[in-house]
Amino acid sequence: MPGAAATATEAAQGLDIKPFDIIVAGAGVVGMATALYLQKDGHRVTVIDPRDPGMATSFGNAGGVVTAGNAPLVTGQTLKKVPGMLLDPENALRISWRYLPQLAPWLLRLALSARAERVEAASKALASLNALAEPAWWELSRLSGVEDLLKPRGWLKVFGTKAGFDDNAAEREMLARRGAKVDVLNRDELRQLEPNMAPIFHGAVFFPDCLALVNPFRAVDGFAAEFQRRGGVILKETVTAIEPGTDACQVVSDSGSRSADRVVLAAGAWSKGFARQLGLKPPLETERGYHLMLPAPEKNLNRPVLNMDKSFCLCPMETGVRLTSGDELAGLAAPPDYTPIRRILPLAKNMLPSLDLDEQSAWMGYRPSMPDSLPAIGPAPRDPRVFFAFGHGHYGMTQGPATGRVIADMIAGRDPGFLADSFSPNRA
Ligand SMILES: Cc1cc2nc3c(=O)[nH]c(=O)nc-3n(C[C@H](O)[C@H](O)[C@H](O)COP(=O)(O)OP(=O)(O)OC[C@H]3O[C@@H](n4cnc5c(N)ncnc54)[C@H](O)[C@@H]3O)c2cc1C
Repeated sequence: MPGAAATATEAAQGLDIKPFDIIVAGAGVVGMATALYLQKDGHRVTVIDPRDPGMATSFGNAGGVVTAGNAPLVTGQTLKKVPGMLLDPENALRISWRYLPQLAPWLLRLALSARAERVEAASKALASLNALAEPAWWELSRLSGVEDLLKPRGWLKVFGTKAGFDDNAAEREMLARRGAKVDVLNRDELRQLEPNMAPIFHGAVFFPDCLALVNPFRAVDGFAAEFQRRGGVILKETVTAIEPGTDACQVVSDSGSRSADRVVLAAGAWSKGFARQLGLKPPLETERGYHLMLPAPEKNLNRPVLNMDKSFCLCPMETGVRLTSGDELAGLAAPPDYTPIRRILPLAKNMLPSLDLDEQSAWMGYRPSMPDSLPAIGPAPRDPRVFFAFGHGHYGMTQGPATGRVIADMIAGRDPGFLADSFSPNRA
């Protein structure tokens, strides 16, 4: 942990931390991990969420703890592919044209983030946060007794064509520069790793140090159970306002008003309105994503496999195979459209011939996304007693526990040991 003055564990073992009354708004992976770390520091913590813990976006993701994910979503190279992806009926990237007027400023900032120097800076920042991800995951999952869900299986990307593989070279180089272990596999090596996958891929990139969660929801639920076992309170209410006060902050919900010494805003894609109340207009959008659950075939995959040609992932989970796909820019209000992900089913079957396409369930989640791929982590401009912890986009499952750890460090006055300025909610 570069530069960390003291870990939360050491603090809990008797370091001098002033105990606060803290309210965490949001019980996704970010909120629950933050609540656990704050509780370990001796604070009295209440979590407020209208849903049960882990029932929003943290429920149905691909479960990758992608510690090697040190590249922002959009680079000069990926930006060039967007028109082709939008025109490809087998690619689940979609923009709602009706939503475009609201989306346009975010898209513009996304395009500006693709400039080379910004990509490099974002990559360095991501690496500093992702370096904390694995230890934080093991710490919280062992504490909560759910470490069986965390599998050291790596993260695998496969490419159908030489052109697609070559196009990815710049990203591979950047990830390797940031210290990720990156193994380039030929067809034979890929076959050894995934013998049940059809031999239709030109090549693959394997990140052996990444982890895979076989049930992301159960992990967050486990954090919540441990939090409550240790005396934490979870209230099933909707926060309607976070108001700075003289002595304490006020958190208003549909059931009344509570004061708190510190507040953490971890409401994922729903955080924007509260951030505005606290003096910031964050460029937060939602990239909606989908999954279909399919029965686990006898000849299964050994790890999540990301098909880079068509942007979908097949993930072996404890409850079956999860097909995840979709990057739909349509805001929070539009109803789900499962057509694009269902179109991918035959491609998934091509990839894993033993796959049973009998759909068990379908789900949509709301990635909370900032245009520079960096979450907002740190104090609010109008009241430094309120901490922002939202905007984790494609990697919130990876970064949730690390975010909880650094928020606890900030509240305790410890050096969080990452490039905090890059994640400042106030950054341009
Ligand atoms: C298809 C798909 C695949 C993905 N795969 C991966 C992956 O492999 N690896 C990875 O790292 N990430 C992945 N992600 C991203 C990841 O799931 C998210 O970044 C992460 O779950 C966000 O967590 P969160 O806690 O910020 O938000 P959420 O889990 O959405 O939680 C936010 C909580 O805030 C609550 N809330 C909202 N409004 C209020 C209010 N007014 N008052 C109180 N509470 C409120 C909500 O009810 C919710 O419980 C994927 C996402 C999708 C959609």
